[in-house]
Amino acid sequence: MDHNKLAELLFPHIDKKPEDYEKMYPQRQIPEGAMITRLGPSPTGFIHLGNLYGAFVDERLAHQSNGTFYLRIEDTDDKRYVEGAVETIITSLDFFGINFDEGALLDGEKGSYGPYFQSERGKIYGCFAKELVKKGFAYPCFLTEEELADIRAAQEAAKETTGIYGKYAEKSRSLTYEEIEANIASGKPYVVRLKSSGNHELPSEEIRHIEVEDAIRGTLSMPENDQDIILLKANGIPTYHFAHVIDDHLMRTTHVVRGEEWLMSLPIHVELFEKLGFQMPVYCHTAQLLKLDNGNKRKLSKRKDPELSLDYYRQEGYHPQAVKEYLLTILNSNFEEWRISNPDAPIDDFKFTTEKMSSGGALFDLNKLNDISKDVLVKIPADQLYDFLLDWAKRSRPEVASLLEADRGYVEKILDLGRTGNKPRKDFICAKQMFDFISYFFDDYFVIEDTIPEEVSDEDAAEILRRYLDSYDHSDDQSAWFDKIRAIATEMGYAAKPKDFKKNPDQYKGHVGHVSTVIRIAVMGRSQSPDVWEIQQILGEDRTKERIGMLIV
Ligand code: GLU
Repeated sequence: MDHNKLAELLFPHIDKKPEDYEKMYPQRQIPEGAMITRLGPSPTGFIHLGNLYGAFVDERLAHQSNGTFYLRIEDTDDKRYVEGAVETIITSLDFFGINFDEGALLDGEKGSYGPYFQSERGKIYGCFAKELVKKGFAYPCFLTEEELADIRAAQEAAKETTGIYGKYAEKSRSLTYEEIEANIASGKPYVVRLKSSGNHELPSEEIRHIEVEDAIRGTLSMPENDQDIILLKANGIPTYHFAHVIDDHLMRTTHVVRGEEWLMSLPIHVELFEKLGFQMPVYCHTAQLLKLDNGNKRKLSKRKDPELSLDYYRQEGYHPQAVKEYLLTILNSNFEEWRISNPDAPIDDFKFTTEKMSSGGALFDLNKLNDISKDVLVKIPADQLYDFLLDWAKRSRPEVASLLEADRGYVEKILDLGRTGNKPRKDFICAKQMFDFISYFFDDYFVIEDTIPEEVSDEDAAEILRRYLDSYDHSDDQSAWFDKIRAIATEMGYAAKPKDFKKNPDQYKGHVGHVSTVIRIAVMGRSQSPDVWEIQQILGEDRTKERIGMLIV
C-alpha cells in the first residue's frame, strides 16, 4: 500500500505539514523548572468540585514555578454541549480566584498557542492524522454500527476483551487502496483508527509493559496498548485520546493534571506520543473525591450530593479563600501542619507539591470545610466581610442586598460583634448562614424563633420584661446592666447564680440565666446569641425598647 497516496485520498484539503505547526507553536521560552499546565473542561454546563480541585493543582504548579496556566475548552462532543457552559466555567473558576494566563475567555481567547477551543482545531488534528496515515500508523475503518455490535457480542460471548484489535482489526487493516477509494466514492462513512503495534496474541508474560513516572503515583507499569482506537470519528472530530496528545504537545504542556479515570487509557497515550515522535509530558493523575456515607467511602455523585457542584458554594456563599484553604488540606498532607505554624501567612506562601498528594481517594467532608470557613472568616475584617456578604446577596438575594446597602455602618458593627477580643466568636460559615445568623437585626426578618425556658411561667416572663423595661437605661455599662438583671432575678425568686440554683433547686424557680434568656428572646427572638448588652447597643435604644414592649402582654 502506498501510504502517501492513501493520506492524500483521505485528507486532500490538508496542506500544512507537522513542521509548520511545530514552527507556529515553538517551544516556550520559560525559566528552568517552570511548568506549563492546563485545564481542559468539557462545556457540559456542570462544573464540579473535581474540576476546581484539579484546577487548583494546575494553578499552583504553574504559578509557583513561574510557568503558565491556560484554559482549553474541550468542546468536541457536541451532544453534551450546553449553551452558556463556557461562561459558567470561566466565571465559576474566577470566583475561586483561579486565574488563567492564556486560553479561552468570555469573549474570544488570548495567547499564542491557540485556538484554545478544540472545535476550532480541526485542521490541526487532520494534519497529524494525515501524518500517521503516511507513516502507516493509521488507517480508515468502514465497519458499520452493526458489524461493530456483532464483533462486540462475539467478544462478550467468548469472554474476550472488547474493541478493535488483532484479528478483529484484520478486515479493515487489509483493505486495498482501490477498495478504500471505492468505499469513499460511494459515500461510506469511516473513522480513522490507530494501527497499534501492540500484539494481542502474545502470552501475557511476553507482553511489553510501558513505564510512566507519575508525579503523584510514582512509577506506573502497565501492559502496552494493543487496541486500534479511533483517532478521528466519522465526522472528522477527534477522540479525547488524539486531541489530548496533539494539543498538549503543540501547546507545550509540561504537566498534565487529570483525574484518575484517565489512568486506564494511559497506554494509548504513550503509544500515540511514540508514534507521533512527541516528548511526553509529566502526568499527574489525581485521586478521586470521595465522601463518607454511613461509614462507607463512595464517589461524590451529581444526583445525591449538591455539594459536588461548584454552583453550590456560590449559592451558599462560601468564601473562596475558605474553599481554597480546605482544598489544600485534602490536596497536600502537610498543609494543616504548615497552617498551624503559619496561622497568618497568605495561602500562596505554602509550597504545594505533587509528592504530598495522596493517590488513594481524597475524602471530602463538608463539616471540615465549615470548620475551616469559620477560621478563615474570623480573620477577615468587618468591612471586607460586608463587601463579601453584599456581593453574595446581590447574586442570590437581591432583597437582602438593598437592606445591607441601606446602612453599611450598622451592618459592619453587627458583623464585628464578639469578634474583637482575644477569643473571637467564630459564628460565620458562609454568606447565606451569615445572613440567617444576623437577620434579627433587621425588623423585617425579626421573628420570635425560640420559646421561653420552662423554668419561667408566662406571667413571670411578662413581669421580667416589664421590670426590665422600667429600669432600662441605654447608657448603662455592661456590669450596671447585668446587675439590674440579677436584681430582677432575685426579687422574683430566681437564683442570682446558676450554681446556687443547682445546689438548691427547691429554693428557686430558676436562675439568672433563665431570666436573661427571656430578655434575649424578646430582643433577638433566639435563646442563643452573642452578648445581649452589645446587641442592644447596636440595635439602639428605641428598637430595643420596642421589641421588649412587644412581648409584654
Ligand atoms: N475534557 C476532559 C475532561 O473533562 C479533560 C481531561 C484532561 O484534563 O485531560 O475530563
